[in-house]
Amino acid sequence: MAQDFGLLENLYHNFHHIKERSLSLPFLRHEQVMRNLKGLQGTDHFTITRIGYSYLNRDICLVRLGTGPIKIFLWSQMHGDEPTATASLFDFFNIFTSKQPYLSDLKHFLLNNFTFFVIPMLNPDGAENFNRRNAQDIDLNRDVIKNNTPETRLLIECFKTIKPDFCYNLHDQSTLYSVGMSPQQVMFSFLAPPYDYGKSINPNRLQAMKVIAALKDMLEHFVPDHTARYNDDFEPRAIGDYFQSKGVPTILIECGGLKTDPNKEYIRRMHTLILIHSFISIAQHQYEEYTPDDYFTIPQNEKHLYDVVLRNVYFPDMHKMTDIGINYNYQYDSVLQKLNRSGIIEEIGDLTGYYGLTDMNAEGMTVIPGKVRGGLSPEIDTVKLQNMIKDGYCAWIANTKISSEEFPFITLDTENLQKSFPVERNKRACFTLLYKDKPHYNVIDGILINISAIPFRCANNIAIN
Ligand SMILES: [Zn+2]
Repeated sequence: MAQDFGLLENLYHNFHHIKERSLSLPFLRHEQVMRNLKGLQGTDHFTITRIGYSYLNRDICLVRLGTGPIKIFLWSQMHGDEPTATASLFDFFNIFTSKQPYLSDLKHFLLNNFTFFVIPMLNPDGAENFNRRNAQDIDLNRDVIKNNTPETRLLIECFKTIKPDFCYNLHDQSTLYSVGMSPQQVMFSFLAPPYDYGKSINPNRLQAMKVIAALKDMLEHFVPDHTARYNDDFEPRAIGDYFQSKGVPTILIECGGLKTDPNKEYIRRMHTLILIHSFISIAQHQYEEYTPDDYFTIPQNEKHLYDVVLRNVYFPDMHKMTDIGINYNYQYDSVLQKLNRSGIIEEIGDLTGYYGLTDMNAEGMTVIPGKVRGGLSPEIDTVKLQNMIKDGYCAWIANTKISSEEFPFITLDTENLQKSFPVERNKRACFTLLYKDKPHYNVIDGILINISAIPFRCANNIAIN
């Protein structure tokens, strides 16, 4: 379907006109959301109401915007560690405070056609600790039957009061989904949730499918081959399935990953364009031209990716040559307010049909465990550190954590006394790859360091810290 994406093109290139600069991913705090809502309160078009509290008494607010007949209900971050859509919603809000002349028509078009009801950050307690679940350790998206959480109760209450025409359920998914069986990383996946185990299609689910098909078209224009369809198994405990069962077209949007966009700022931009395009398409009825086929031909979200795949590695003890799959785990450090990354060996075995975001043929290379060094003073300079890495060390035992901007290195305390890291599944990915009996790569927490040349090169093309 040929479409004119002129306005979206303009916003794509001039996103700084609406981007909310005070919010940067990958981590948002509740107080940042509240500060921004306070800034919007009292400006034209916005009504902000505190509708209730989280389990730990943090404010949960509803933003109302516009006077049009089509009622859209959106909520973000019901999973605390999924903040991309929250940032994007504030970018969307900035359309209505912008003085850019070319946005004036869009602003009035949206305000006259729609009334938006938005809960940005439904799970502030989870968000504060970068935790999926709320403070009661309950997944809000599995609480629609039991209603144990104040957050889910609020969401359902709003749904009943608003009586929306469309619902938008906004999430982040793992960055390791692939577009079907391909090596392409999923940037966005969509779902028109089912409302029964038979996955029947009623008029409202059909509407959601058509909107998603329109969005897929738009994404193909900007970022081809990075869109997928989320698993459509019925989940009676999930909010989207419930709202769909109540007769309201409900659209699930999952922000995925893009290797070149580790903090998801580009994905955030595209997410804002997705919202705008869907609203235009709904108001102008363009989405109605799409068919269920357009929806079902979107490739499925599949788990065929690893962060790192090393192929054809020789394991001398086992006399075998096989592949290693490594994924990164992220843990939130509440003191430093940053995410810490560690690399875990997820798979040792044939990874044919699977792909790594970093994917290397290590044929001819032999793996040996990464070494741990003890008895070092914390005064380590770059040269000493380089030499240790070159000698196959991945960690030292020390009381003070020493971090390097250039190289990853692990500090272990004495309780974790060990001489080396076993190259086994579910263990930290710390090992050395020998080529012709000489260390060629040192892998520290899944980061590949090419040590065959000076200066060393990080082969994953990702930030060390
Ligand atoms: Zn989620």
